[in-house]
Amino acid sequence: MPLYVVPTPIGHLEDITYRAVRVLREADLIACEDTRRTRQLLHHYGISTPLISYHEHNERQRTGELLERLRAGDTIALVSDAGTPLISDPGGQLLRAAIDAGLPVSALPGPCAATTALSAAGLSAEGFHFVGFLPPKSATRRKALEALADEPVTMVFYEAPHRLLAFLQDALTILGDRPAVVARELTKLHETYVRGTLATLTAHFGAETPRGEIVVLIDGKPTVPLPPPDDTILLAEIERGIAE
Ligand code: SAM
Repeated sequence: MPLYVVPTPIGHLEDITYRAVRVLREADLIACEDTRRTRQLLHHYGISTPLISYHEHNERQRTGELLERLRAGDTIALVSDAGTPLISDPGGQLLRAAIDAGLPVSALPGPCAATTALSAAGLSAEGFHFVGFLPPKSATRRKALEALADEPVTMVFYEAPHRLLAFLQDALTILGDRPAVVARELTKLHETYVRGTLATLTAHFGAETPRGEIVVLIDGKPTVPLPPPDDTILLAEIERGIAE
């Protein structure tokens, strides 16, 4: 009868809790974005719970059907392709419908690229603003960045690798030079943090287009303005291979 929101690994298959594995095994149905992707995870853990696809293109039509199953007493586990459902991922409509219908909902804690990146980036994590993806077009992206210019806490963005440079250039133009970090391929073999400022990161990624999945973190509004960018500032880059 409950709807469980279940986070799944963002790269490393071992990053899943014992409880998440049990909930996935005991559920009557798992609602997932891409059944092939979730099947790989289930196969790894020997789970044979039936799957139903639930993604941004069928979220509206599937919500009613899944709500009926919950009402009938079924337990449904909601997962996304990776990380925490609803965090830049589908699931919001089903969750809202279950809450509105007075049905029990429960979220399991687990992997999320934003909090994973924040916890090792080296920027303040006292408070943070999760922004997620900004619009892909520069004009609308710049408008969104203007609205964030006075944000005092660390901002966390998701970005596609082929748009990273344009994003950094717009951020530098709108926010001015500030400490920032590009976190790439978290929990995977080529996990990398490139730490610097928006100016040094723009120079770095101007010379090399990254691959893989990316989180960008930008410091909140500086209380005193930063000195002009210094080309001699070295980027601290940590290449860490996870061999196991
Ligand atoms: N729900 C997910 C979560 O909890 O983080 C986010 C899903 S969103 C569709 C996918 C984006 O998250 C990627 O484009 C990337 O920006 C970020 N992301 C996901 N996994 C990542 C990883 N292993 N390393 C860096 N960024 C990642």
